Amino acid sequence: MEKKIVIAIDGFSSCGKSTFAKAIAKRLGYLYIDSGAMYRAVTLELLRRGLIVNGIVDTSRLENILKEISIGFSFDPAKSAYVTTLNGTVVEEEIRSPEVANHVSLVAAIPRVRERLVELQREVGKRKGIVMDGRDIGTVVFPDAELKIFMTADPMVRAQRRLKELQEKGISISLDEVMKNIEERDYIDQNRDASPLRKADDALVLDNTHMTVDEQMQWVEEWVRKLTM
Ligand code: C5P
Repeated sequence: MEKKIVIAIDGFSSCGKSTFAKAIAKRLGYLYIDSGAMYRAVTLELLRRGLIVNGIVDTSRLENILKEISIGFSFDPAKSAYVTTLNGTVVEEEIRSPEVANHVSLVAAIPRVRERLVELQREVGKRKGIVMDGRDIGTVVFPDAELKIFMTADPMVRAQRRLKELQEKGISISLDEVMKNIEERDYIDQNRDASPLRKADDALVLDNTHMTVDEQMQWVEEWVRKLTM
């Protein structure tokens, strides 16, 4: 039988990590886990409770909130995809809103939030045969992953791709606003003290500025073949 591995995908915001990770998982029959969705779900909960005001997160009730909330993924047959749930309700749309996008890096920089979510990620990822994408998967969550990929792409190309995605969902936003959000998130993600975004020493770099999803798939399948033979 073919050996199953853990594939850790990290990289900048909006460089197609989740599209790529989902395609690999589907191709290999692996479980896909979107760790960013978990940070987005915590952010949504804090926003709903009015605990983020003027860019400041009130952390006084954080410990209880982290204990109480449940974050999961459930299969939506209509979308033929997994969607994120928060306390049992599907929040896939809400966690992708610009409001959540604008606050998520702030929340993801809080060490206690990271600690709790890393715990949950390791729990779901206990079994082999998983693809997880995020910012610290190869460096912190699964430092022993057999295949680590660090994705990057030109910021303007990333902003254009993201804008198209948001427009397709009917969200009206300018290219400038999208670019600003991407730059801000890159900055906070790379410069925070708690597990900043960085390439693991043993990660392969995938710059997909000029690559199609098919080309990226060919590239990764070659590596998976070598590692699972
Ligand atoms: O991947 P996505 O863009 O949905 O992630 C949203 C945000 O969550 C990122 O900008 C980053 O601040 C945070 N994140 C993180 N560590 C991860 C995944 C996401 O800090 N493993």
